[in-house]
Amino acid sequence: MPRLPIYQQKERLVEAVRCNAFLVVTGETGSGKTTQLPQYLFQAGFWKGGKIGVTQPRRVAAITVAQRVSHEMGFTLGREVGYQVRFDDCTSKDTVIKYMTDGCMLREILADPGLTQYGVVILDEAHERSLNTDVLLGLMKKNHCRGGSHSRSSSLKVIVMSATLETEKLSAFFGRCPVFTIPGRTFPVSEQFCNLIGPKDIDGSGYVKEVVNMVLDVHTSETAGDILVFLTGQSEIERACDMLFKKAEAIDYRYDVRDRTVDGLLILPLYGSMPTDQQRQIFQPPPAGVRKCVVATNIAATSLTISGIRYVVDSGFVKQLAHNSRVGMDVLEIVPISKSEAEQRAGRAGRTSEGKCFRIYGREFWEKYMPDYMVPEIQRTSLTSVILTLKCLGVHDVIRFPYLDAPEERFILSALKQLYQFDAIDRRGHVTELGRQMVQFPLPLGLTRVLLRAAALGCEELMLPIAAMLSVENVFIRPGHPEKQKEAETKHREIASDAGKNNDFTMMLSVFEKCKSSESPSSWCRENWIHWRAVKSAFSVESQLSEILLRIKQQRDFSTEEFEGSQSELFRQCLCSGYFTNVARRSIGKSFCTMDGHGSTVHIHPSSALFGEESQLDWIIFHDVLVTSRMYVRTVCPIRYEWVKDLLPKLHEVDAYELSNVARE
Ligand code: ADP
Ligand code: MG
Repeated sequence: MPRLPIYQQKERLVEAVRCNAFLVVTGETGSGKTTQLPQYLFQAGFWKGGKIGVTQPRRVAAITVAQRVSHEMGFTLGREVGYQVRFDDCTSKDTVIKYMTDGCMLREILADPGLTQYGVVILDEAHERSLNTDVLLGLMKKNHCRGGSHSRSSSLKVIVMSATLETEKLSAFFGRCPVFTIPGRTFPVSEQFCNLIGPKDIDGSGYVKEVVNMVLDVHTSETAGDILVFLTGQSEIERACDMLFKKAEAIDYRYDVRDRTVDGLLILPLYGSMPTDQQRQIFQPPPAGVRKCVVATNIAATSLTISGIRYVVDSGFVKQLAHNSRVGMDVLEIVPISKSEAEQRAGRAGRTSEGKCFRIYGREFWEKYMPDYMVPEIQRTSLTSVILTLKCLGVHDVIRFPYLDAPEERFILSALKQLYQFDAIDRRGHVTELGRQMVQFPLPLGLTRVLLRAAALGCEELMLPIAAMLSVENVFIRPGHPEKQKEAETKHREIASDAGKNNDFTMMLSVFEKCKSSESPSSWCRENWIHWRAVKSAFSVESQLSEILLRIKQQRDFSTEEFEGSQSELFRQCLCSGYFTNVARRSIGKSFCTMDGHGSTVHIHPSSALFGEESQLDWIIFHDVLVTSRMYVRTVCPIRYEWVKDLLPKLHEVDAYELSNVARE
């Protein structure tokens, strides 16, 4: 393997870590920060002072990088080098280099605020500005400033790594700590604006087709070298791969590319919820004479480096979670990327030789619609879970917490309000017993509330599978072909009506139970258009959630209640305890009106078991919202007004300022 740029800096880097409590490390993507620095620190003996922990905003990155590093060091994954992501812990007592998601690190801090097991904490990919990494930055700063209150923190080394700029800002944040720059070695990338989409495509609908055409164009007209395509998410990537597959078949690839014959195009998708064995393929070189084409989400921009890439095709869009004020909740939206992200994407083409980047958008789109930098997640998404975590860590004044970029006060206030609605904090802004129980679950708070309510009523065996099914990738297959789609929908509805109750939550429960009791669950899934792999992960998630719940139930102040009524009522009333924030009432025709004060008009998504039965419904709760030209609610359950009557006033009861004023005492 050719030496990476970081190699020459080895001694100086180790020395810099030795001499400083805080260090910012920056360098081009692919220079070796993520995979090499932890190894250098290991070789220099830093593990003697505790584990070397490396956080990543993305779970795929944590897993693949751990695989790579354990391989480079000649260890078995999960022993000396391991990883931990939500619901998947691949570490052992021997683990000294631990890659993990930033969310997992936050949970570790909850269990052990002094991070006593760690000698070094590396917060990687800080430029991504993920919500959890931003909070970790603040916590690291705060704990050090407090000095001595956590005995270990004084000797804990904190390294922040970032692929891009903002290093001055990071350094200033940590009291002007040194910045270590790894000199890059990159090749020029020519950038072309192809102007295939324009401002009218701002809602981001037609770009998949254009991207596919661009790829075929590059493939037939450019010399040897692999292609990396940036798209938005799993469904768009799968659609593009299907289209490429079909169209590529029609082309005769037997033409000369310099001295190499390209027989075909090896098409490889890459997105977060893909199984890891499939992801590993991405890094392997293609067979001789074949051009590799990786169709990826933003994950390939800085978190993972794929070698051999000479061409980048950039859609110009990204899918990101953002608070939607029309709906009053976080929604995944497709938005134009920032100019700085576009530069990062282009840079992937120049790792090993000169490259080319084809942007399907034009200059006008670049100038008018692409911001210079993207808004950090902490300033655009719900802070509810994070604020609860901070409160549980004893950060009472969540407004004056040291944020690298502070969220708007109204976002903090609405998080406080929601915590109060869920009974996680009291009127004085203090965490309740329930709040302390809730924070232990790696789940959205509403769902956690449902689980704990179910446990109090003794029916957790109904809710644990549902919480698990909602935590894995979608289990219901929706084939692209219209006829097949009809067939799949019919099958899914049969499952629901077999259970005797037509709603999407029981449908999930039914799938879970059918697979559990089936002798051949994989063939049952195939017949019924269900992802067996997803259900299998749900099995594992269910047992992990069940362990957490068991631990909580064993604590002394866990109280239980009796319930009078049918099981269906019990089930749906439990759901109401966490989903009363997502209640809608039928208004005109097939539309519903939300009851959270926003009064938005929503429709039931076609994938729901209740789609088409709107006229028979009155009140419903829903799990989430999909915003396209319309607002669709997904995973729906009919309820009775009496069940939410006493809960709905909670949505308006408390003035958020009241909570925050106490917070500032
Ligand atoms: P950085 O964190 O600075 O972006 P990395 O440490 O992730 O860089 O990667 C350094 C180099 O290691 C990359 O340029 C790539 O060639 C190689 N590499 C990283 N991960 C893998 C992998 N899973 N398989 C093969 N090569 C890899
Ligand atoms: Mg990296």
